[in-house]
Amino acid sequence: MTDTVVKTLPAGTIRYDEVVAARAPWSGLVRKGEILRLVDLEGQQAIDFLCYNANDAADRYHAANTIKIPGQVYLNKGSVLWSVHAHKLMTIIEDSCGKHDTIFGCCSFALDEVRYGATNPESCQRNFERELAKHGLGPEVIVSNVNFFMNVPIEKDGTAGIADSLSKPGDYVDLRAEMDVLAVLSNCPEALNPATGSGPTPIRVQIYHP
Ligand SMILES: [Zn+2]
Repeated sequence: MTDTVVKTLPAGTIRYDEVVAARAPWSGLVRKGEILRLVDLEGQQAIDFLCYNANDAADRYHAANTIKIPGQVYLNKGSVLWSVHAHKLMTIIEDSCGKHDTIFGCCSFALDEVRYGATNPESCQRNFERELAKHGLGPEVIVSNVNFFMNVPIEKDGTAGIADSLSKPGDYVDLRAEMDVLAVLSNCPEALNPATGSGPTPIRVQIYHP
């Protein structure tokens, strides 16, 4: 795997380090003050991401609050992931890509059928359901998510769509947990639009303990 991006290492020690296969989901507890690093190992790979107050899943990521509070539709360094109760869940403290989406949600079998008349063997909706079930949570807690490394330009007339990703091999985001959070992600399996470049590829997940 190529890795062309020079990374600044977060302070602390790595307590978790795993490569998540193409098309696979992942979840984990990130404690307050810890840093979750997501690495797009080969570039142009969307990571669909949700997070929850680890002690109250109803206090979950809220895309509209995340957009409204700063008045900015794209996420990048300094962006806060806000909850439905307007609590800070996580903050993006480093970002080598510079532009991430949180308006377009995740892929699903049903959506693929409507948009493309075809579907993929896997979907982010299915991945979220599988991963949340491990924590005793049902599909009702799935909400409009963050799409790290996904490029969704919005034109002046309001036109929006998934364009080629700006993410290079090795691009990363560092997310500091502002409370104990359950992080859940889907390494997007979509192959019918540019969300995964020329096809789904692996990512790396690391957790740094301060
Ligand atoms: Zn997807």
